[in-house]
Amino acid sequence: MAETPLARRLKARIAADGPLPLDVFWQAAMTDPEGGYYTTGKPIGAGGDFTTAPEISQIFGELIGLWLAEAWIRAGRPAPFALIELGPGRGQLMADALRAARAAPDFLEAADLLLVEASPIMRVHQAAALATGKPRWASDWRDAFAGDDDRPIFLIANEFLDALPIRQFIRTGSGWAERLAATQGDSFAFTSRPVALPPPDAPDAAPEGAILEWSAERDAVMAVIGGRIARTGGAALLVDYGHGSGRIGDTLQALAGGRPADPLANPGQADITSHVDFAAASRAATDAGAAAFGPVDQGAFLLRLGAEIRAAQLTRQAPPEKAAAIALGLRRLLHPKEMGSLFKALAVLPRAAPPPAGFER
Ligand code: SAH
Repeated sequence: MAETPLARRLKARIAADGPLPLDVFWQAAMTDPEGGYYTTGKPIGAGGDFTTAPEISQIFGELIGLWLAEAWIRAGRPAPFALIELGPGRGQLMADALRAARAAPDFLEAADLLLVEASPIMRVHQAAALATGKPRWASDWRDAFAGDDDRPIFLIANEFLDALPIRQFIRTGSGWAERLAATQGDSFAFTSRPVALPPPDAPDAAPEGAILEWSAERDAVMAVIGGRIARTGGAALLVDYGHGSGRIGDTLQALAGGRPADPLANPGQADITSHVDFAAASRAATDAGAAAFGPVDQGAFLLRLGAEIRAAQLTRQAPPEKAAAIALGLRRLLHPKEMGSLFKALAVLPRAAPPPAGFER
């Protein structure tokens, strides 16, 4: 593959400043305005590198639309409120959610739709899918929460946290070292450098070679969501793949053309993600004053919301080949060997709130 201008710029930066923390390299690879993967590529859907739950089945977005409307009703129908989606991709989730939420017309009436999207290409898709919702956009999540907006928020994010950058640390014989992106000949490669202070909440007893991941940006997003919900009320639902606890392990991965790729090899040409640490996400929201529920496995969560009932409804009106596609889509969302247990849902609500739909014990 020919060297891209972004790769050249990153190499020049490493030559000038030394090896880069993984989050710095990752941020550039994904959202650099001129060469970033999301900002310049076509990642999602047919012909893209990956497929997401809302692209697999309309049931996913529909159930989330009903979840949001029900959370709003339980909160006492506040109006107006901000309806926020972080990283809406092609807009499918929100389109399905808004259609399902027509069951609660007052919810739609009171909603002011705000989409947080770094990619101009994705924004074009979202504008087409959501024309009737009259969305506004913010390209940075910080702007969506800036100021002293007192309106409650009802927020959804599917596969957004996994796209935000992490740093990695490795346990050595003499303490923790940070893994950094360096150059080796014409390529990028990892190197490491001892750190003066251990990463936050690093376990004392980690075996040599153990890798610890930490995402300051994911923590910051969750803190802002938790703080806003504590202040104004509302509810947030974050769905992603990851683990409930246990932070040791290398979960960095990259996909290019639908295949696993070296995360450092061709910055801007591959999708870089890592598993979400739900314990850390939940802690950041609760430390900011809110209550967190879950994580609950996606399969269990969608079943509790009525995924099978909705599939049966859709199947009744469908010709046989459509019925088979509905069943297949449902299986991919629910089955533990597909997305059902790797993906999980986390909810954030005000402190006194009872568990939201799908999070009951
Ligand atoms: N939620 C969608 C798309 C998930 S992919 C779905 O389920 O299909 C991640 C989305 O987040 C993309 O739309 C991507 O462009 C956007 N994104 C990634 N990093 C971002 C960032 N730092 N700020 C804003 N948007 C970002």
